[in-house]
Amino acid sequence: MGDDRDTELPDILAEFGRRVGQVVTDGLERIRPAFDAVAEAANRPEIRAVVERAEKAMRCRPCLCFCARAHPADGGICEVFDAVITGQRRLGLLGDVDLPLCAPCAAARAARHFAG
Ligand SMILES: [Zn+2]
Ligand SMILES: [Zn+2]
Repeated sequence: MGDDRDTELPDILAEFGRRVGQVVTDGLERIRPAFDAVAEAANRPEIRAVVERAEKAMRCRPCLCFCARAHPADGGICEVFDAVITGQRRLGLLGDVDLPLCAPCAAARAARHFAG
């Protein structure tokens, strides 16, 4: 009597997986009209303005310059939330990675680089 509990487990899991898959599919079908409504609303000018503002805010990248090390002489120039340039930085084993930098930091780094 107690034996079949173990042998049933894979079946139960498989059935569970099928049901979850079905529920997700059903759920997606059910919310599709809502998505359409959102897409429609997104084309309205007042909504577009909000979306564009949000996009601009998301595009606002923090400057990832290590000011104290990269250009200690110009520590206070950083425009922390206005990174506009992608600089390259060597990170040990990772090699060269792209890092967002603000314009003043990029200039200070370049100046320091050329200075030696
Ligand atoms: Zn900096
Ligand atoms: Zn900066």
